[in-house]
Amino acid sequence: ASVPHTEIKRICCIGAGYVGGPTCSVIALKCPHIIVTIVDLNPARIAAWNSEDFALPIYEPGLEDVVRQTRGRNLFFSTEVDKAVQEADLIFVSVNTPTKTSGVGAGYAADLNYVESATRHIAQVATSSKIVVEKSTVPCRTASSMRTILESNSRPGCHFDILSNPEFLAEGTAIADLYNPDRVLIGALDTPEGAAACAALSSVYANWVPKERILNVGLWSSELSKLAANALLAQRISSINALSAICETTGADVREVAHAVGLDSRIGSKFLRASVGFGGSCFQKDILNLVYLSESLHLPEVAKYWRSVVDMNEWQKLRFAKTVVDNLFGTITNKRIAVLGFAFKADTGDTRESPAITLVKSFVAERAKVAVYDPQVSHDQIWMDMQSACSTPKQELSKQLTLHTDAQSTFAGASAIVVVTEWAEFASPNFDWEGAFAAMTKPAFVFDGRGIVNGARLREIGFKVVTIGRGENL
Ligand code: NAD
Repeated sequence: ASVPHTEIKRICCIGAGYVGGPTCSVIALKCPHIIVTIVDLNPARIAAWNSEDFALPIYEPGLEDVVRQTRGRNLFFSTEVDKAVQEADLIFVSVNTPTKTSGVGAGYAADLNYVESATRHIAQVATSSKIVVEKSTVPCRTASSMRTILESNSRPGCHFDILSNPEFLAEGTAIADLYNPDRVLIGALDTPEGAAACAALSSVYANWVPKERILNVGLWSSELSKLAANALLAQRISSINALSAICETTGADVREVAHAVGLDSRIGSKFLRASVGFGGSCFQKDILNLVYLSESLHLPEVAKYWRSVVDMNEWQKLRFAKTVVDNLFGTITNKRIAVLGFAFKADTGDTRESPAITLVKSFVAERAKVAVYDPQVSHDQIWMDMQSACSTPKQELSKQLTLHTDAQSTFAGASAIVVVTEWAEFASPNFDWEGAFAAMTKPAFVFDGRGIVNGARLREIGFKVVTIGRGENL
């Protein structure tokens, strides 16, 4: 029989990553009466969360402040998974679900190995009943597998209720998103136990989220909603990017088009900014997941439909790389290309699936000299990403690739500046474009992959400016 979970006193979060870390830190801040322990198998990551100087393993505006207020009070980071699981009333499973790289569904399907291991672990060590919450993004019906694993491995007297509570935070604005979410989605089985578990988790969020924003739905709707949300967001980017290509050859300006269509209240103005393409660990992974799910359900047309969103994104990245080469008279061999930004978007140090990786790889393949600057991403990370993308050791790669700690030092002798990440620094009126121009080979080009530079000012200085989605280029 199910134990009615009315009050949550202790929470454990398995996975101290981009989601588990910020999400459960905010829960600890907003619920001082709940003890929150975030655990991870990776001791280096936990050590960073516990570091005295708050050198946290991820960069997120406002995160350090939250951790400073809560760590040691009611927030703890630990590698002692068993203890935290045993003590908790509610356990978030917030482990990684990357795309499978080999075997069945390679390149599409989610690798559920981490979710399964964490679930088995909970069943094996738990000595009392728990609510287990699927926080990771997973294929629809994963909760059913988790439930079977929990039920087949639990100790006598332990009952597990399973909930789906997908996370909608965006990296770069994670803390603001967690403070003020558009909605908190909780999926539960349509049983009295499911309803009780759902009420218990809802009451945690109700400490700061208005009740009308806490949405209770069925388990499978909740799982699918997360994939659907990311697929639709990515689809908007691919749609405006597809239009940006038409703009460039017709003289239309994608900003004007986006503004005009966005005023239609049925369409809305958000997420309509043309760019070099989307990146990040989620959009591509989750759409590919949906593609695989559709194929598994024998729905090839549905799979093809969502696949086209990823194909358009790939094309946009390569199209932008080709624009750079074409404008530089068809060759960039031995020319210096200054790349501004490496993170997949501003206000994060995350480089997973960053368009910068594709671009730098293309420039390296064209035998250019590439100089990269990002205000947040560590050089170690960039070396790791580029060695892996180019399958070339650092020593060899360093003949073509240099990493810089400021923007200005990338410009010496450069033929082009390529703006890849929309960091505020690059759009600032104080950015020294005059200094950049003076240091560069002429003609000096700026390729704006984010539509953030002031083209008129740059042209006045003498630059040739190419912006994604603008017909008035150069
Ligand atoms: P991450 O890789 O940053 O963190 C996952 C952590 O889980 C890692 O530190 C890993 O060591 C740990 N882990 C794996 N198996 C474990 C186990 N058995 N026991 C203890 N720790 C274990 O991943 P993330 O970006 O936080 O994403 C987590 C999930 O949330 C994914 O499913 C992702 O799709 C989803 N999600 C991510 C975002 C985002 O912006 N990054 C947003 C919404 C949802």
